[in-house]
Amino acid sequence: MSRRRQIYEGKAKILYEGPEPGTLIQYFKDDATAFNAQKKGTISGKGVLNNRISEHVFTLLGNIGVPTHFIRRLNMREQLIRQVEIIPIEVVVRNVAAGSLTKRLGIEEGTQLPRTIIEYYYKDDALGDPMIADEHIACFGWASQEEMHDIADMAIRVNDFMCGLFAGIGIRLVDFKLEFGRLWDNDFSRVILADEISPDGCRLWDMVSGEKLDKDRFRLDLGGEVEAYQEIARRLGLLPEGDTTILDLEKHRKRRGK
Ligand code: UDP
Repeated sequence: MSRRRQIYEGKAKILYEGPEPGTLIQYFKDDATAFNAQKKGTISGKGVLNNRISEHVFTLLGNIGVPTHFIRRLNMREQLIRQVEIIPIEVVVRNVAAGSLTKRLGIEEGTQLPRTIIEYYYKDDALGDPMIADEHIACFGWASQEEMHDIADMAIRVNDFMCGLFAGIGIRLVDFKLEFGRLWDNDFSRVILADEISPDGCRLWDMVSGEKLDKDRFRLDLGGEVEAYQEIARRLGLLPEGDTTILDLEKHRKRRGK
């Protein structure tokens, strides 16, 4: 393993110091957690797939003008990113009722929402990421009005784009979580999309069968987690043709000591 300085270790990723000031290396682990880390496990190969899927989605978002922290993928599990100051808010975008929305409000799972909902949660594991309103964000100064305006704007753009992207490969984008960060330039900062976009933080259902192809397979003990993530990568055109999967490639490289 490398001897780079570790900056932070989260549940699914590790951040290392980058090669230049203002950059970091984001390493994708196979660890999976659910229910505020009460359930823990490993999904072998997940990190490789999430690195690849997130690279793809962030690149496409960059191409339509959504600013992101992504610079480039370095290898199977790592990508070079811009260092940002993470805004302590999880932004959840919902198109279809599922998860906590169904539990909290009793809306039947699978109900198409008449309009997209954006929700905010305070990023604090000890508190279990409680849901918050704009009022709390303003009151406690977690983000300015202007930043919240930009965040809501970007969340809608990302949703519109991703709904189309996934519809094109027969997937219903049910909901997903985004995180944003401040990119500082002397005394000024602007908000850019950070973290990752992968089946870990999205609900993705097959449009025909309704099959869940995301982290709910782990949360709900459905099995076939890595196959589901692989299916998303395959439909996005990210797996090499033939039967040499991205995961076999990693094993192959490890055997050769690369
Ligand atoms: N989500 C996430 N991290 C979290 C909470 C939620 O990535 O800490 C994602 C989750 O995968 C889903 C969406 O945000 O796609 C909405 O999650 P929900 O509020 O329904 O919570 P959950 O059912 O996961 O507890």
